[in-house]
Amino acid sequence: MSEMRKDCYVQDKFVLIPNHVNKDEDLLKIIQQKNKPESLPDNNNCPYCPGNKQISDQLILSFVFKDGMLQRLYDSQDTVNENWTIRVFECKNPIVSTTPTHEYSDKPYYREPAYGYDFIIIPTPEHDVSLTDLSIEQWTNLLLVLQDRVRWLYSQRGVTYVAIYAGRGSNGGNIITHPHFHITTFSSIPPVIEKEAKTFHQLMNETGSCPSCNMIESEINGPRQLFSTAHFIAMVPWAPTYNCEFWICPRKHSTFFSKINQKEISDLSLVICSSMRGMDNVLGKTDFSMAFHISPEKKNSRQIHWHIEIYPLISSWSGLERGFGIFVNVPNPEYSAELLGAASRKELARLMGII
Ligand SMILES: [Zn+2]
Ligand SMILES: [Zn+2]
Ligand SMILES: [Zn+2]
Repeated sequence: MSEMRKDCYVQDKFVLIPNHVNKDEDLLKIIQQKNKPESLPDNNNCPYCPGNKQISDQLILSFVFKDGMLQRLYDSQDTVNENWTIRVFECKNPIVSTTPTHEYSDKPYYREPAYGYDFIIIPTPEHDVSLTDLSIEQWTNLLLVLQDRVRWLYSQRGVTYVAIYAGRGSNGGNIITHPHFHITTFSSIPPVIEKEAKTFHQLMNETGSCPSCNMIESEINGPRQLFSTAHFIAMVPWAPTYNCEFWICPRKHSTFFSKINQKEISDLSLVICSSMRGMDNVLGKTDFSMAFHISPEKKNSRQIHWHIEIYPLISSWSGLERGFGIFVNVPNPEYSAELLGAASRKELARLMGII
């Protein structure tokens, strides 16, 4: 018998798990792209490589790692400092904009200006590496810059939500090979976060406790855990939308990613680094997307237990997923966790210098 699972914790969605024998060959069969993502033919065309003077986006911040600290560099477009660790650009052709266009209209053809900030964060000057190749130090620097931008953006007018996301390969939505993160803000809460927040508050009112905290407590050392550290758990959810999808969640209740401390940031870097390298070891350099589900900081009624979701894109969707919202999972979540867990724990041990 196949089984239909429902995610009751936060998302309230249906996942179908066919009763296939989950052998390695089955998994390999569904991995369609076990290749390195194709890189741009010429690095000179990459707007984010050091030395490129034809940057189309506006450079707004540059950081360098010096004397054990991430320090802000003040360079302009004319005197670009090439000795940088991380850079932040504002998109010249953004999908949202802070220059209002006054395009409003009423139902049924409702519209409003897409107001917001659109940033690109470049975590390394190296063009030909993948996000999964970033070192723990590079992840730490990246997370610190993300925190810094999230804090700044939530202090701006018209920013209700800050969406942080990244990916690899064309299926992950990338045109540029150079590893990068996106930050896009919105004047309303995106539907997935709205749904998570609504379910969260409903269950919070009914039971008096955070449903994510309850979920994490029951997943610790369970069959879907990849591994856990002092502050975080990496796990495959009970009812994943994507094959081999996994989440990274703070173990203690935490609503603001922007407020986690240096110790937690270091731990998170280790967890991201180990689990994503583990993913690469199992799935190859497959395309993927990742999203930081953080709280809309200004809306008290819409806080969530923040977490990171990583979606490996090893198979494509049929009409069932696209047209009906029923997600088929081969292999099953426990088997995915077994494979990803073994590979991630090996990476974790390697990164901690145990093996
Ligand atoms: Zn580049
Ligand atoms: Zn919680
Ligand atoms: Zn989520």
